[in-house]
Amino acid sequence: MASSAPPSASASASASAKRKLQPTVIPVPNENDILKITPLGAGSEVGRSCVLLEFKGKTVMLDCGLHPAYTGLASLPFFDMVDPASIDVLLITHFHVDHAAALPYFTEKTTFKGRVFMTHPTRAIFRWLLADYVKVSQVSEDALYTEQDLIKSYSKIEVIDYHQEVEVEGIRFTGYNAGHVLGAAMFLIEIAGVRVLYTGDYSREEDRHLMAAEKPPNVSLDVLIAESTYGVQTHQPRLEREARFTKMVYDIVRRGGRCLIPVFALGRAQELLLILDEYWQSHPELHNIPIYYASSLAKKCMAVYQTYTNMMNERIRKQVKISNPFQFKHISNLRSKHDYDDIGPCVMMASPGMLQSGFSRELLEQWCINKANGVIIPGYVVEGTLGNQILTHPDEIVSMSGMKLPLRLTIDYISFSAHVDYLQNSEFIEEVGAPHLILVHGDAMQMGRLKSRLQSEYMEKDKEIVIHTPKNCESVELTFKGEKMAKTLGKLASDEPAAGHVLSGVLVQRDFQYHLMDPSELDEYTGLNTSVVLQKQSIKSRAPFGLVRWHLEQTYGKVESGADSSAFTVFNTVKVRDVGGSIYVLEWEGGAINDMIADSVLSVVVMAESSPASVKGECGVVRCPI
Ligand code: ZN
Ligand code: ZN
Repeated sequence: MASSAPPSASASASASAKRKLQPTVIPVPNENDILKITPLGAGSEVGRSCVLLEFKGKTVMLDCGLHPAYTGLASLPFFDMVDPASIDVLLITHFHVDHAAALPYFTEKTTFKGRVFMTHPTRAIFRWLLADYVKVSQVSEDALYTEQDLIKSYSKIEVIDYHQEVEVEGIRFTGYNAGHVLGAAMFLIEIAGVRVLYTGDYSREEDRHLMAAEKPPNVSLDVLIAESTYGVQTHQPRLEREARFTKMVYDIVRRGGRCLIPVFALGRAQELLLILDEYWQSHPELHNIPIYYASSLAKKCMAVYQTYTNMMNERIRKQVKISNPFQFKHISNLRSKHDYDDIGPCVMMASPGMLQSGFSRELLEQWCINKANGVIIPGYVVEGTLGNQILTHPDEIVSMSGMKLPLRLTIDYISFSAHVDYLQNSEFIEEVGAPHLILVHGDAMQMGRLKSRLQSEYMEKDKEIVIHTPKNCESVELTFKGEKMAKTLGKLASDEPAAGHVLSGVLVQRDFQYHLMDPSELDEYTGLNTSVVLQKQSIKSRAPFGLVRWHLEQTYGKVESGADSSAFTVFNTVKVRDVGGSIYVLEWEGGAINDMIADSVLSVVVMAESSPASVKGECGVVRCPI
């Protein structure tokens, strides 16, 4: 707790209680009013999502991903732009590598000591997914972290539910369902009354297993940070898209080919499996053609999918009551390539989704020379990956071993990525109604098109919006002054406010809220303790008590006598007492002013002994001159 309350303020307390009181707006000194938003990754690119939010001395990091097109340190967000120790909270939107995979590096290899939050399914899948990532990356020299780092990092993650509001050091945040993949969340963050919504990757379309992203309840937003992966493109309606996809698969296997579907191990893969299983069920002529889902993670992660069906859409929740929709009839899991005999037509879903390396890459190299075979790219592929390159239909590709291979198989692309398209994105942006929009997670060209299309639409509607498209490490700085309110509490709020009346009390700041209260009520309303220090000092003096009193009256005017003649009080503050044996005791309540008065009383008492006004008597005792 930060508090501006002085330790002892009893003087103003009694005075203020008698005055007429009014709740009031008190100008509180301005701290830093600039909200700074900086992408350390995903700024005019897709990959290594990481956005920094800084306001009023608080820092939030949104996502902590790796860039799939790079390896080692080059795949990290620009962490050198930030002091990791200054980050209070790190929020991870979903388990995809480009949003979560740099987390073990950040928690274990930097000075970061803040708190990390994600949803239950995100954390469960994160564990398995990254264990797999570690296994693959340990082969190369530039591995970023070990299995041990991953376990330590995992233990630091705190979980939250959708709609659960959490407050950390004055930063309030809530996760909302973002569609996209199981457990994906968008985050509403509030710092000192300024509200920012970060969508992460999101989808506004319900599919076979997930709900569409929800819109956070009606709160006025100041800034929206939205993904822009698909720019101004429009998705095909879901049923048409599914029909096109199943036809592509059907055509390949019916001509005797092998159908390769490179997928990210989790997320969209589950959606495609649901579609294929249902399609096979209704096409008995395909029953002799196997569908494989090649992922060492498949089994572990399926358990997570089966656990969290309650976070999926109604269709799945209904189906669960009859049978588990994720126990497929026509799909076999392949733990490794050794379990697979390449003997004829088949459908093979294998990771990684962008054909960078691994099993999907091996199969492509094995199958690419036969034109009966086909590859279907079912979603967004990052620039710089082989998955992206083959979409331009080159004549040949370079294998992992450096050999050139002719590319004869058919190549199809169909978007199953659960990202918003232009219509869904622009509708959401308008509904949310934030005056500032920051676009991330999109390549520069898509982002540029989206920005100009949105701007012209807003102009037509005569609405205003400021759209920012920062590159990595470029900050968007927005000023939020805001009116600071101090609410009065307790005694101070007992009377109706009236113009011209001044309130006096202790101003207490807790995070970004200010309260004004009577000091005697500090304990009740804030838990802060107040205490009074009673000071005592004894002094030996040969000056008689009456002489001391005379000197003090000369300096301070009249002193007040107590019940007996052995004590009096100077200046309503310092009590002087004769305790016998030429010893005088000074007593007062500690405090800056009282201590000063006590010091001066003390010096007068000392002076009294040697003052010229004193007369030395026969018996050697100092006598009073009057
Ligand atoms: Zn994603
Ligand atoms: Zn992403």
